Amino acid sequence: MIPGPSVIPERVLAAMAHPMSDIYSGELVDVSDEIFAELPAIARTEGRVFAIISNGHGAWLMAIANTLSRGDKVLVLESGIFAVVWGQLAAVSGVDVEVLPGSGRGPVDVEALEARLSADRNHEIKAVLAVQTDTASSVRNDVPAMRAAIDAAGHPALFMVDCIASLGCEPYEMDAWGVDLTVGASQKGLMVPPGMGFVWANDRALAAYETAGLKDGYTDWGPRLNPSQHYQLYAGTPPVSHLYAMREALRMIDEEGGVEAVWARHEMLASAVWAAVEAWSSPDGIEFNIVNPSFRSAAVTTILSNSIDAERLRVICRDNAGLVLGTGIGAFAGRSFRIGHMGYADPPMILGALATTEAGLLSMGAPIGGSGIVAATARMGELLEK
Ligand SMILES: *Cc1c(COP(=O)(O)O)cnc(C)c1O
Repeated sequence: MIPGPSVIPERVLAAMAHPMSDIYSGELVDVSDEIFAELPAIARTEGRVFAIISNGHGAWLMAIANTLSRGDKVLVLESGIFAVVWGQLAAVSGVDVEVLPGSGRGPVDVEALEARLSADRNHEIKAVLAVQTDTASSVRNDVPAMRAAIDAAGHPALFMVDCIASLGCEPYEMDAWGVDLTVGASQKGLMVPPGMGFVWANDRALAAYETAGLKDGYTDWGPRLNPSQHYQLYAGTPPVSHLYAMREALRMIDEEGGVEAVWARHEMLASAVWAAVEAWSSPDGIEFNIVNPSFRSAAVTTILSNSIDAERLRVICRDNAGLVLGTGIGAFAGRSFRIGHMGYADPPMILGALATTEAGLLSMGAPIGGSGIVAATARMGELLEK
């Protein structure tokens, strides 16, 4: 139950066992076309989508390299770890990075964002980098509120959002919310092993490409925009097994009723997790990291453990019960654990994971407030009726 790479469906694993195909024509090209036709709807955009054979970091780099130049300034909105790490990656390419600090226990401060952009009268800031869901803090930022802050400041910066943890989990509307560029990756909500990254770009992001000075020969959008050979979409040999996997995962999303049905399932599963954590909470024991419920992610939950030894809980659950909980990372290391509820998850998995976690807590004599599993089951019962 770690928050990525998430559990891969058997159907997707089986699809990956497909033999290598001709990469220039025939079936593999059809598979690739099907994926490229489906992907814009996942981010809810009419813009272009680019694939890169990499993890999320590679997609971050593709976003930066195709829109910015050495010396350009970007404003990174901290709300955990990942936006800051994205900024560090951009800094290596010579981008001038300023971080708008966050508390780690709540969303981006949109008033501070508006104030900072309003103060940037010469429009030196070329892009604003944020995450929708931060996988370390488990905050779900309010993307439309961030857009509104940029607009209120009358600022032309490109708005780039990392949805690596949240695509296929949380509601997301790239076009309707005025996002210029979205970054995703295969291994979280999209239910495919790590190894494919994605960047969705609207017209403003594509216009920035024209003058971007950081282009490189691998991540370059140019050949991918107008490929004369199919393999140029991947800057070389396509990731054959991943393409079969991605087609299967996208078909599963379709069969479930589309991305809206998938979002609703995540909301239901997350509600059960939240009910359990609420019930477990006690004065010096378990506590939500994200204080305000409306900013809790539907994909992952970070639980502060306070007097409880989170690492011991993880070891007991993993070695004695076969449940792998997520460890706390960054500033949350050593004082928290995480439950991933992203991608291929259903009530038996989530209720099983919560019950096993509770058994682990009980085996340690941890000071829990009450039965999380009673609360989670009751919550799930209410939601299953609907
Ligand atoms: C997992 C994750 C990343 C990093 O992805 P990698 O595949 O490890 O490079 C970036 N941002 C967010 C929000 C993530 O959850």
